[in-house]
Amino acid sequence: MTDLRFDNAFTHELPADPDTHLASRQVQGAAFSWVEPSPVAAPRVVAVSGEVAAMLGIDPARPDFAEIFAGNATIPGMTGYAMAYGGHQFGQWAGQLGDGRAIGLGEVLTAHDGRQELQLKGAGRTPYSRGADGRAVLRSSIREFLCSEAMHHLGVPTTRALSIVATGDAVVRDVMYDGNPAPEPGAIVCRVAPSFLRFGSYELPASRGDTALLRQLVDFTIRTHFPAIAALSEGDRYAAFFHEVSTRTARLMAEWMRVGFVHGVMNTDNMSILGLTIDYGPYGWTDDFNLDWTPNTTDRRNRRYRFGHQPQIGYWNLQALAQALSPLFDDAAPLHAGLNAYVQTFEATDAAYGAAKLGLLHARDGDEELIAELRGVLVAGGMDMTIFYRDLALLDLDSPHAGVLGAAFYTDEQRVGVSEALDAWLKRYAQRVREDEAAESERLALMHASNPRYVLRNYLAQQAIDKAEQGDNSGVEELLETLRHPYDEQPGRDHLAGRRPDWARDKVGCSMLSCSS
Ligand code: AMP
Ligand code: MG
Repeated sequence: MTDLRFDNAFTHELPADPDTHLASRQVQGAAFSWVEPSPVAAPRVVAVSGEVAAMLGIDPARPDFAEIFAGNATIPGMTGYAMAYGGHQFGQWAGQLGDGRAIGLGEVLTAHDGRQELQLKGAGRTPYSRGADGRAVLRSSIREFLCSEAMHHLGVPTTRALSIVATGDAVVRDVMYDGNPAPEPGAIVCRVAPSFLRFGSYELPASRGDTALLRQLVDFTIRTHFPAIAALSEGDRYAAFFHEVSTRTARLMAEWMRVGFVHGVMNTDNMSILGLTIDYGPYGWTDDFNLDWTPNTTDRRNRRYRFGHQPQIGYWNLQALAQALSPLFDDAAPLHAGLNAYVQTFEATDAAYGAAKLGLLHARDGDEELIAELRGVLVAGGMDMTIFYRDLALLDLDSPHAGVLGAAFYTDEQRVGVSEALDAWLKRYAQRVREDEAAESERLALMHASNPRYVLRNYLAQQAIDKAEQGDNSGVEELLETLRHPYDEQPGRDHLAGRRPDWARDKVGCSMLSCSS
């Protein structure tokens, strides 16, 4: 296989930090710092996404694969750099953050999928490491790798992952921040996306009054990643850019709500300017439908980033971005228009997805009430979101009974407690579907394409991690393969489609995760 075609527009076209030392520091007037990955002891491939390898045009069987994607070896055209960015963390401006452990390797021009930037997460210290070690543990690397691939196949915009390479080095982490630090196996994920620019990339120069750098960054982003906007007249570009970022973010939030994904740390440094899901940390999937749930123990008190609050946080984060971009606007009206477009796009997309999950092909007045009522019933009964929606397609419309939904209940008490409300809703739903006058096959196809059978339940990821930590990668491989077809029934894989078992309910890694990774 030929070498990758590196183009590296980001480092060619934007200003570099002239200081090439590793020491932690404030980096002014630059979009990035040059930095090479720090070598690791004994790279060993844990998993590769064959699809991402094919997209990039890299042979996963090449003998130097582990060395390259552990940061021990380079191939022609690769350069190492860490991006400068800031961010609002949990609602507070946190100043400069930057890639403290992610190191960019450059941008590849692919045959069919445009520009793709490669980045090693956990590749060692950078000027943005702020006293931390620049490394990542195997457990969080497996979580990032599997979830980004799973999200892609669910149809949710996301960064992707090429590989996980175990480093052979130990990394010390205090998992629950309770004074019990312990060594864990280290690993590096190679992440892949058209760009890793974040809201925080623009907020940092704006916070310093560096409008020249801000403008350079925005112009670069539009030129490189939004060609349709680059073709507009100069006076319209920035408004169109903010509008586009807003509507992409709105669609992303609607997607997360559709599949039951809770990001867990929606700080503005974790918001992609391309509207991708980025930075998989203490994320989770809601098993029982609970809009107040967050997997992130660090956020347990305020639950700022809880499941049902994500759309509001998307708006909050866009406001922060609008504030950062405001020096480029003479008049704030286009920024307000972008924020309004966020609300409209989210509401329309969320409503459309809600209807699609119910198999309603022709939108009608009253559908929003039907969807809202169902959410109330799901909350009251704590049903498993994924199983409930998937099995709803089994309902007999002529005799709508909750029996077919039995697998979605976690306790008998909940099943009995909600049965009256559920039966009433099912009757209304069945009536509504009959009035839709759509072909049954079409309705079922829509439901099956909107309601996955397989999602990366937190406990499933943890089981694969436990095996991998013992040197057995079969759990990771099985999940990767299964989650490539989340909407298909896969005979023999029922054990990956069931409810969360009781033992996993309050277990670290299965329902509770800290930012320690
Ligand atoms: P996150 O919570 O993963 O979004 O990270 C927030 C900030 O902390 C980013 O600037 C990261 O690069 C940095 N960071 C997180 N973990 C580490 C680490 N182990 N070493 C260096 N920097 C880190
Ligand atoms: Mg981050």
